[in-house]
Amino acid sequence: MTDDLLKEKYEKFEAVVLENNPTANLERIRAAYEFARNAHSSQKRKDGSPYIVHPLAAAEIVAEMGLDEDAIMAALLHDVVEDTSATLEDISKLFGPSVAAIVDGVTKLSRVQYTSKEEQQVENLRKMLMAMAKDIRVIIIKMADRLHNMRTMEYQSAEKQAEKALETMEIYAPLAHRLGMQRIKWELEDRSIYYLDPIGYAEIQEGLARILKGNEDFLERIQEKISTRLKELGIECTVYGRIKHVYSIYRKMYSQNKTLSEVLDLYAFRVIVGDVADCYNVLGYIHEMFRPLPGHFKDYIRTPKPNMYQSLHTTVLGSDGIPFEVQIRTWEMHHTAEYGVAAHWKYKQGVNKKTADEEKFAWVRRLLEAQQDADAQDFVENLKIDMFSDEVFVFTPKGDVVNLPAGATPIDFAYNIHSDIGNHMIGAIVNGRIVPYNHVLQNGDIVEVLTSKSAKGPSRDWLGIVKSPVARNKIRQWFKKEKREENIAHGKEAFEAELKRALIPMSEITREDVLPKILARLKFPSLEELYAAIGYGGMSAQKAVNRIRDELRTIERSKKKEEEITAPAGKKLKPIHGILVEGIDNCLVKFARCCSPVPGDPAIGYITRGFGVSVHRKDCKNYLKSIADPEEAGRWVKVTWANS
Ligand code: MN
Repeated sequence: MTDDLLKEKYEKFEAVVLENNPTANLERIRAAYEFARNAHSSQKRKDGSPYIVHPLAAAEIVAEMGLDEDAIMAALLHDVVEDTSATLEDISKLFGPSVAAIVDGVTKLSRVQYTSKEEQQVENLRKMLMAMAKDIRVIIIKMADRLHNMRTMEYQSAEKQAEKALETMEIYAPLAHRLGMQRIKWELEDRSIYYLDPIGYAEIQEGLARILKGNEDFLERIQEKISTRLKELGIECTVYGRIKHVYSIYRKMYSQNKTLSEVLDLYAFRVIVGDVADCYNVLGYIHEMFRPLPGHFKDYIRTPKPNMYQSLHTTVLGSDGIPFEVQIRTWEMHHTAEYGVAAHWKYKQGVNKKTADEEKFAWVRRLLEAQQDADAQDFVENLKIDMFSDEVFVFTPKGDVVNLPAGATPIDFAYNIHSDIGNHMIGAIVNGRIVPYNHVLQNGDIVEVLTSKSAKGPSRDWLGIVKSPVARNKIRQWFKKEKREENIAHGKEAFEAELKRALIPMSEITREDVLPKILARLKFPSLEELYAAIGYGGMSAQKAVNRIRDELRTIERSKKKEEEITAPAGKKLKPIHGILVEGIDNCLVKFARCCSPVPGDPAIGYITRGFGVSVHRKDCKNYLKSIADPEEAGRWVKVTWANS
């Protein structure tokens, strides 16, 4: 490309700037252009033209949308930090911190790498772009950048074309849609589908050409008819017709399983008028002129679309039986429909800088809050969270996005990638600098974890530093597995201290008749396992001791119950030979000779035939033999020693 041609391009760009932004300082803009041109001087685009053609084109798109001087300059400079030796400091010094901040934002977004991912990852990426951008101008410049790249994609390899087209379709077109930037959205979609489904694209184009053949003047005729009639009626308006975008036809065909000829309204007309009242007037006149198709009228003026789109839509039949859509709107609605967020920018030019920024921000928020469809709802929910920072999005060195809770540290990052990385971590680098373990990550940080095979593993302090449940669990897991001996020692120590505090002697819980019950209650197979769990943090010593205390009480209570003897109703048992017999008052009592029980022995009574109750020790062979015999067992009765 000759210098003259470049000069011509620049002059055209300047004219666009002036047209949309009459007060812009052209000298500052030119200085940014010269700086970028020098910085990129050794680079060429794939088609052989100087690299500067690309940022210049992106800046022109940005200027066309009416963005301010800083944004236009940032668009000119958007690739210098990433691709040349120029630094952000240079830009800040030469063009001010505000331009530098936008360039920084765009540079960070450029580092986001995209490989086709599942829907959740895609949504994360979209959210991250928004969360990172902070300044909406960053996103708009990124859109312009992408749009120009898509326009000049023919010089790229087929692989690159497919990759970029998919990314555009999944990330940038939906973002453009949500930000209300219809014009960019449509162009991005059409250019993407051209590469993603070349056959489908060609079919629609050929089909459209066939349908249009012999109908070439249809658009003109209808346009003429409408505008003549409305002018007769004294309504000032602009009318134009167009064929619908390839992708909007494509989507209808595939989602509704229709052939091209079944897709109604391939043609769309726009009537742009001065005020809302005229929108409804025009609607009435259109319906007078052409027969409306029932069920095709939509009032997006009264009920704007989630992205703030407003218009009246109706589909009518032309005199030759060809259906077409008419969209009726005011100029303001038209600008919002075409440029979305950016249009609003245009209206706020010249207002005090700070309030303007706040208003822009508020507007974006309102815009996003207004989005009601399900996926957008989720997007907005998450975006709101991002804006008030409950989440943070960071990159791996490869450019993958990792989503962490706000306040997350490099340790959280490491464990969220893989437990092995966390367990072998010996340090972290954030944006090229070594940081301490408790460094709080920011949106867009590029995080690298330094690992070593000989790393000692996590430290217990890390449990107090990490913010994500994933990291916390994985660190506990590690302590559980790798440090069993140490855990048991730690756990035992903590447990014994806690037991002491509860005034429970160790000997009380290790008794043969008590320990199995306690372990069952705590759901551990052995005390060692309990210590290990306390050691790695799976159970607190306090909790364990509380349960043990409960269990001891239960055991105590049931023992007492076992020893209690019930008397027949209304009577009080009197001891005979120092023995109380359950349910029997005043009976004959004798002591068995086989085992000779003495006071204090665990005892049991046998109801003899005619000789009253015979008292045996509980470990007496005769008792044990008899209790096992079903015919005999029923004759055994509880007895207890009276206190005296
Ligand atoms: Mn670029």
